[in-house]
Amino acid sequence: MTKITVAKGDGIGPEIMDATLEIILAAGAKIEIDEIEVGEKVYLAGNTSGIAKESWDIIRKNKVFLKAPITTPQGGGYKSLNVTTRKFLGLYSNVRPCMSLHPFVKTKHPIMDIVMIRENEEDLYAGIEHQQTDEVVQCLKLISRPGCEKIIRYAFEYAKQYGRKKVTCFTKDNIMKQTDGLFHQVFDEIALQYPEIENEHWIIDIGAAKMADTPEVFDVIVTLNLYGDVLSDVAAQIAGSVGLAGSANIGEECAMFEAIHGSAPRRANQNLANPSGLLQGAIMMLNHIGQTEVAEKIQNAWLKTIEDGIHTYDIYKDGISKQKVGTKEFAQAIIKNLGHKPQTLKSVSYAKGKALNLPKYIRKEASKKDLLGVDLFVHWTGTDPNQLAEKIKVVENNGIKLSMITNRGIKVWPDGFNETFCTDHWRCRFKPMNDAGITKANIIELLKMALNENIDVIKTENLYAFDGKPAYSLGQGQ
Ligand code: NAD
Repeated sequence: MTKITVAKGDGIGPEIMDATLEIILAAGAKIEIDEIEVGEKVYLAGNTSGIAKESWDIIRKNKVFLKAPITTPQGGGYKSLNVTTRKFLGLYSNVRPCMSLHPFVKTKHPIMDIVMIRENEEDLYAGIEHQQTDEVVQCLKLISRPGCEKIIRYAFEYAKQYGRKKVTCFTKDNIMKQTDGLFHQVFDEIALQYPEIENEHWIIDIGAAKMADTPEVFDVIVTLNLYGDVLSDVAAQIAGSVGLAGSANIGEECAMFEAIHGSAPRRANQNLANPSGLLQGAIMMLNHIGQTEVAEKIQNAWLKTIEDGIHTYDIYKDGISKQKVGTKEFAQAIIKNLGHKPQTLKSVSYAKGKALNLPKYIRKEASKKDLLGVDLFVHWTGTDPNQLAEKIKVVENNGIKLSMITNRGIKVWPDGFNETFCTDHWRCRFKPMNDAGITKANIIELLKMALNENIDVIKTENLYAFDGKPAYSLGQGQ
């Protein structure tokens, strides 16, 4: 018996959760259910996170959480429970299988069978944003080596476990050489440890286009958080319907399983909703807790039911479907099919299922870190970069000189183009004249002088080299 935490959520949530639990219990799942309340009611009772402290305690104690979709009320101040849960519980890996059910569910891609594995904790989703000038706001993209290693190793281990042949990495490292560059570099390092699995890297733009056009060339895809968020919805939609996909959010301690769709409030309480997405989440959960035979039995019964043409309204198509059913009838049809396998669709075997047991990240020895210079970001409302250069050069001291000014990344001084559009947000790069290097005290001195000169420095970024290799971007056009 495994105790799991269950939240029935909002909108269609309770109906699809009831159907899902009925199916998995009928299939022989050995689970004990610990129900908690999350979502709209909790939000509207004044808890801006949508979940009470006691519920966190239950989730953390049981470690396995099956969650129906919830409604996030409109208006400011309410925090997304999904994002909070993923980050609080360290659920670094989001796994979303997207498989075509051709010819039983309409799709333009009859042989698609992709598993999207998305990094779940970092990237622009760290949510660190600031307005710095009248015209410019920023969002920090944070990528860590442990974050990359964990998700990429997870993708290869997943591929190995499920007998998948290839792992494809999507990044935009031709532009973001540090952040996406690290992800790609770690991918190459870890791929070497799995010689039996093919690996490849695509630049995300053409990779995404290829996936939308010819998804059958991909198998497992691993990518960063934002790209994965967008692409996993595309993948689910082109496979047939977002209503059919489930996802697993896996951490070192805890895991959360869910449907990928929302609470579809307009469809609630009418026995209309398709429980398949949540059921797919529950099947991944059963594999995770080692009940692989039950998981396999349910998946095969579900495939058979889809193949029998017993469809809820969202996937019902005249000529393809045989019977339009409601949530409850769909669940009953699956229960009746337990023990049966599909004939046309490929039946599944989860003999090697189970939670992946990945090694813990081990921090590497620290690199030699040298401070090479500093970028002062300045709020300035002038338009001529030469004027700004004249103004800011006043702060030069201790042999540290202004070497470049950029605006939104493009070099505008020295030798800028008149045509370049400039905002009020300028990056002024200071570097030592000789190889003497620069100290933190030098930077404080620069800032003090800037303050005296009424220069509005809104932030600084130190320029480092790690093991002798400069680790910051050049100005575009530099
Ligand atoms: P949605 O996914 O809830 O619904 C979009 C449309 O898809 C629905 O109108 C419905 O026609 C269809 N649909 C979705 N799931 C279906 C199912 N199982 N069966 C049949 N049809 C289905 O997206 P939305 O309307 O943008 O969001 C509604 C609410 O859900 C919002 O409050 C949003 O914040 C929330 N949401 C929650 C989660 C989550 O809890 N994981 C995820 C996404 C959205």
